[in-house]
Amino acid sequence: MLIFIKHPPSAAENKEYFMANTFESFKEYLDKINMLQHASTLFSWDMETLMPKGGLKLHAKTHTYLAGEAFDMSVSKEMKAYLDEFSIPGELEKYLSDPKELRLWKFSVEKLKKDYDEKARIPSELFRDFLQEQSESFGAWQEAKQTNNWQLFAPHLKKMIDFQKTIISYTDPGKDTYDALLDDYEEGMTSEIYDRLFNELKEGLLPLVKEILSKPAPDHAKFDRYFDPYHQEKLQALLLRYIGFDFDKGAVSKSEHPFTLNFSSTDVRVTNHYYDHEIMNSIYSAIHEGGHAVFEQNVDPMFDGTPAASCQNMGIHESQSRFFENFLGRNKSFWIPIYKDVQATVPALADISLDEFIAEACRVQNSLIRTAADEVTYAFHVILRYEIEKGLFDGSIDVDDLPRIWNEKMNEYLNITPPTDSEGVLQDMHWSDGSFGYFPSYLLGSIYDGMYKDAIEADLGPIDDILARGDIRQITKWLNEKIHVYGNTRKPAEVIAAVCGKEVSAEPLLRYFKEKYLE
Ligand code: ZN
Repeated sequence: MLIFIKHPPSAAENKEYFMANTFESFKEYLDKINMLQHASTLFSWDMETLMPKGGLKLHAKTHTYLAGEAFDMSVSKEMKAYLDEFSIPGELEKYLSDPKELRLWKFSVEKLKKDYDEKARIPSELFRDFLQEQSESFGAWQEAKQTNNWQLFAPHLKKMIDFQKTIISYTDPGKDTYDALLDDYEEGMTSEIYDRLFNELKEGLLPLVKEILSKPAPDHAKFDRYFDPYHQEKLQALLLRYIGFDFDKGAVSKSEHPFTLNFSSTDVRVTNHYYDHEIMNSIYSAIHEGGHAVFEQNVDPMFDGTPAASCQNMGIHESQSRFFENFLGRNKSFWIPIYKDVQATVPALADISLDEFIAEACRVQNSLIRTAADEVTYAFHVILRYEIEKGLFDGSIDVDDLPRIWNEKMNEYLNITPPTDSEGVLQDMHWSDGSFGYFPSYLLGSIYDGMYKDAIEADLGPIDDILARGDIRQITKWLNEKIHVYGNTRKPAEVIAAVCGKEVSAEPLLRYFKEKYLE
């Protein structure tokens, strides 16, 4: 997301900077921006993890100052002059002879220039208003969710939609607004592609879920007990190490909502939240965030400090976290080599057999809340949000009708009616700050995963066998080499073509669900 926008300098203003630039001074300039960003990121990390309430004021002020300085430098006339100069064909070649380094810097300059141009096209007044409304809208959403008062949030949601329409008319003139938003989270994605994938999935999943739910549900009773948070924390470390998280290049902390944050490929942090009666929650958050982290830890270290480093495509990123969480972590074979250690680490699991454990981990049920949904019905939570977002931007859905439409879709796809809007249309924060187009990337991640599974098995043999003999690192290494090392340098379609040799399709994911849940 764009933060802190400033008006672009005119061409005349830039002239004085031309000629004086060398590649070394350009790198020094970027290095200064990186250091400011590094410091401001450290403040974010501390604010989410260790900072006491009393630290907020000074932390927020310092964080905003540092991030603002970094932003100013990224849209300054110096930056424009550098980017103009090093975009000239042949210019980088004067400084760089190593072909790999040359490729990296060509990519970086192109990416930085694209970002600069996009930011520069938005009138600064408009962007300041958007930032202002963003925080007001977020506050209204929080209160609306707490008090179950949809009316409180509706006018802000309308404004966020209008703002996005206006902003996109500047950044991507002539482009469909929702397609431009989808592209922000996953480069190259359009509603046409999502329609095809999600319709295919919907048609296959509706009867499949019905069939799964017609079977007797596993007994949850044994999991309704106290699990010492200290034991859960130790288990997280065990699981992270097991999947290949490198503690020399990563750290763990606690926060309200689990997340991953990376400073560079050699410093990637994850958090978790330990509920004392909910062990599955922290286990699968540990593996999920671990998947994001293993990705970032294995990006080519040469990319650090450039736009090539951290992967900005949410679908590709989620495909890694969700592959570890669901395709590996919700597989019985994942646990076979370590379940004894797991029980020793968490004594409250001592009388729970591996079969009981995995039945609980794979329990399918129609539920209200997206973030707590199982891997199968999760698809419907995303599809209904996608259909609503699309309708909001093509004008076929009115904000005032949202609670009704939400509940109708919940009924259609999940056979369940939310008792309140807080547990329905108001549950997620994404729309409150204008993050439309983000939701579909979660499910896209799982669709990619179905395809990776086929590719891994073609290369290495059945995943079940690899996991059962405790060779999970072989899979991690495969992902490192095929996906992680490239960082942000490949577009999603290029990743899928290179790794799977075909176009994206939902068929492998559907097949995986059928094989796993109907047997
Ligand atoms: Zn994630």
